[in-house]
Amino acid sequence: MAAALLDAFFDHSPLANFLRHVRAFFVHILIPRFLCPLKRRFNRIQSRDVVSFSMKAMAQTLQITEIFHSIQGESTRVGQPCVFVRLTGCPLRCTWCDTEYAFHGGETIPLETILDRVQSYGCSLVEVTGGEPLHQPGALVLLQKLCDAGHQVMIETSGAFDVSGIDPRVSIIMDVKCPGSGMTDRMRWANMEHLSQKDEVKFVLKDQADYEWGKDIIQHYGLGDRCAVLLSPVFGSLDLQPLAEWILRDRLPVRVQVQLHKLIWDPETRGV
Ligand code: SF4
Repeated sequence: MAAALLDAFFDHSPLANFLRHVRAFFVHILIPRFLCPLKRRFNRIQSRDVVSFSMKAMAQTLQITEIFHSIQGESTRVGQPCVFVRLTGCPLRCTWCDTEYAFHGGETIPLETILDRVQSYGCSLVEVTGGEPLHQPGALVLLQKLCDAGHQVMIETSGAFDVSGIDPRVSIIMDVKCPGSGMTDRMRWANMEHLSQKDEVKFVLKDQADYEWGKDIIQHYGLGDRCAVLLSPVFGSLDLQPLAEWILRDRLPVRVQVQLHKLIWDPETRGV
């Protein structure tokens, strides 16, 4: 009986009609037009803040595979004592890669600790390498801090990442990925415009086809005038003598390099 009276009240009373209109106003007009957009905007701001906070946190640490003191085995600084900071991770997969152990794992280390460890060797020359060091956002900050600390700094990079943001005091050693690497399509050719006399490009050659391809690239970009050009045979795949003869035949403005550290120590030894 009471339920029937209540139903009658809500079905027919003017107050119930008024409340229905108020409810409809909230559900169909106020919430969709004003409150939902506000909520969406709030969520966007929140997620932007979270991303920028985590980017900042990532820039304060780096994932490191190893830090060690050795003899520089490549580049125009070959033979000099050098501290190497090897960053973890690389999105490329060169067929002849000799640092696959740096693809995963490593240790998360604050930038200041990395600097302290580098300083502890008392060595001016430092190379930041990988993996692909530019894969981590904090790499650019590390390079800058190493320069500020008075080091001669080099970075070895794959050629697949933008080098324009690198501190101008740093020597860039940039790989040019030949067809034998399987990674030519990952090259960022705009990087060539950012190379200067303090920088070097390195072609790792698997065979004569890589050499001929590299020769065309050197000529196309005028690399001989722009920076040092290094030709490096894949260890155990291309002999030095034919490479030397092709270079002399073609009068190429390059230098041959071997991986000196693989002659000094066993080629499989890590941390040298
Ligand atoms: S870019 Fe370097 S670390 Fe990455 S796969 Fe190629 S050789 Fe290995």
